[in-house]
Amino acid sequence: MQETNNKGTDISTLGEFGLIKHLSKNVKLTQESTHKGIGDDAAVLNQSGKKTVVTTDLLVEGIHFDLMYTPLRHLGYKAIVVNVSDVYAMNAEPKQVTVSLAISKRFTLEAIDELYEGINMACEKYNVDLVGGDTTSSLTGLCISVTAIGEADEDQLAYRSGAQVNDLICVSGNLGAAYAGLQLLDREKRIFENNPEIQPDLTGHDYILERQLKPEARKDIFESLQDAKIVPTSMIDISDGLSSELFHICEKSEVGCQIYEDKIPIDFETHKMAEELNMNYSVFALNGGEDYELLFTVPLDKHEEIEKMADVKIIGHICEASKGKYMVARDNTEIALQAQGWTNFSE
Ligand code: ADP
Ligand code: MG
Repeated sequence: MQETNNKGTDISTLGEFGLIKHLSKNVKLTQESTHKGIGDDAAVLNQSGKKTVVTTDLLVEGIHFDLMYTPLRHLGYKAIVVNVSDVYAMNAEPKQVTVSLAISKRFTLEAIDELYEGINMACEKYNVDLVGGDTTSSLTGLCISVTAIGEADEDQLAYRSGAQVNDLICVSGNLGAAYAGLQLLDREKRIFENNPEIQPDLTGHDYILERQLKPEARKDIFESLQDAKIVPTSMIDISDGLSSELFHICEKSEVGCQIYEDKIPIDFETHKMAEELNMNYSVFALNGGEDYELLFTVPLDKHEEIEKMADVKIIGHICEASKGKYMVARDNTEIALQAQGWTNFSE
């Protein structure tokens, strides 16, 4: 594991303040709404007259990531992505982030630099300013907490609670790929642990590995919706699998849903991985996690515009709550959806 390497620079030689200074020297601020970034007791933001959205995610080593196969650069990138994804899921634009770290002794300065390379890369890609954070030590492992701040006009915000009967259910990209990537990495890790002589075989799986290790937030879909002047009646990002996110929308909106199995977008590599593992690929899409695609509903009359939108698929529609939440399977049977998805606590 790269971070247990003792040859790097011991962080204690810099101290907390030295480390913060080191980490913040490459930070560039670009957002008009950032008045003051790193360096004081708090960052200062300009109010724009819009609504502010705030979201936080905490990533814990051993629970949310495994450093045996996650490069720190990717981890930093992903920590930012999962937060800006939540901002896009509100149909808002991310502007600032803060990053808090708890670092154990086995991490060298070089390791933390790598983590920040990924963090800075994502900040640049998603056009957000890193305006603060906190740094402390931990007894074991690494924890990263990111907070993202974004803004939107009040009438642009998309909540989970706005879905209406007859709305179309839409999804971006394809589903289950990140889970397929995780299955592959776990399999190869187990093989390696049992026999360190065997090199992991990851060939032909580039796409699902990238979806697991370097996910992207759908800034492009947020922009397509803006361009088309469509405000989704409800929206959520898919972090815990399609099924569980549909449950959230249905519950908050007090509606039911009907989706079609053959309309769920699934990539060829996801199919292939499911087949290799003797699993049903629809299960990957329904119950797998970490796709960070957007799931949203729009009124029926937006049908044509959505059909024209790149990388968006209509997978079903919203119905009365009394009809329940179900999927029409490929053989035309109706299957009740279940709110599965990840539950770290039950593991
Ligand atoms: P305080 O004692 O007020 O919490 P700190 O010494 O922890 O201040 O932080 C000093 C400045 O550095 C603050 O602006 C804080 O937001 C920023 N900062 C601390 N840790 C990080 C980090 N890991 N990444 C980015 N900024 C950080
Ligand atoms: Mg502090």
